[in-house]
Amino acid sequence: MRFSDIIGNERAVERVRRLIDTDRLPHALLLHGPVGVPKLALARTMAQYLHCTNHTDGEPCGVCPACKQHQSFNNTDTFFIYPYAKKAESSVCEDFLPEWQEFLRDNEQVESYERWLKTLRVDNKQPQIYANDSNAILRKANLTSFTSRYKVFIIWLPEKMNTECANKLLKILEEPSADCKFILVSDDASEILPTIFSRTQRIELSKPSTAVVADYLVSRYGIDPQDALALAAPADGNVPLAERALEQDNEQHEFHEQFVSLMRLAYVRDLVSLKAWSEGIAAFKREKSRRFLAYCTRQVRENFVYNLHVPSLNYLTREEQQFSTRFAPYINEQNVERMLAEFSRAESDIQGNGNANIILFDLAVRITILIKT
Ligand SMILES: [Zn+2]
Repeated sequence: MRFSDIIGNERAVERVRRLIDTDRLPHALLLHGPVGVPKLALARTMAQYLHCTNHTDGEPCGVCPACKQHQSFNNTDTFFIYPYAKKAESSVCEDFLPEWQEFLRDNEQVESYERWLKTLRVDNKQPQIYANDSNAILRKANLTSFTSRYKVFIIWLPEKMNTECANKLLKILEEPSADCKFILVSDDASEILPTIFSRTQRIELSKPSTAVVADYLVSRYGIDPQDALALAAPADGNVPLAERALEQDNEQHEFHEQFVSLMRLAYVRDLVSLKAWSEGIAAFKREKSRRFLAYCTRQVRENFVYNLHVPSLNYLTREEQQFSTRFAPYINEQNVERMLAEFSRAESDIQGNGNANIILFDLAVRITILIKT
């Protein structure tokens, strides 16, 4: 990561860079700001910059051994502490390192707690940072650093620390050994235990503007600037939220194209192409295939309703509506119920771990019959 990759927040970036350049980085710094703001990315870039042996133009060089380690998420002098759901009494957050590295890889620029929960695959347990973790921090703080002047402890979401864990950290946050730097990264500083909060110096990050988020979407995903603005505005500075809207948009478009292919191929009874079509859908992950079949069900229903010519009853995007002008007449009172039943059966068969290839080709063949009914 480079400081210039941090979305918005030029002033905060400049401030931390100057603190490092002038060797005045406090031993416990709290980066805080709203959900969806690139705080963890900034903390990671700070650690990389601290460790880099060859700064260039106020950025980590990206090629020295320390930078290389940082880029592959395993720098030996950087320790991450993050909330997790205990599996055993002895659990520590390091037990979840593979998940954590996957999370960092997938969310390089902006983190989100919601996505971390997804990566962890936890359901109803409330992730925390536990006393075992402060014990581990104290142990690591006593080791000599491997290759650089500073060991950096990045504590992500200190508001999730339980009291026992926090109490054990108070002393080290107040008087750390000279080679330790703590960077705490919080979504909600008001939730941090006051004893911890008061021992930190603070830098607040703010929501990037809609224009900045839109620029980021354009440069990262190569989408049209106007579409980017439309996605960025409702996200209100929360970058992962804008990205999720983009994913849903992309998926909806993909589903539409696949639905159109199915119906066109079924209409001309092109079984060879339908076989390829079903293999393409079967290659989706199970959850995505189910979402696709649910999409098809909705489209069949929408097209049936479309024939009634009551626009207020229809919920179609522009692209879907364009297709419906020609396609809707093929969904009628004779076939609508059976078609809906076929999609819904395929969906539940896939949920029941059936062979997706067989289920989807079988579905395609039935649609060829039904579409001419
Ligand atoms: Zn470097």
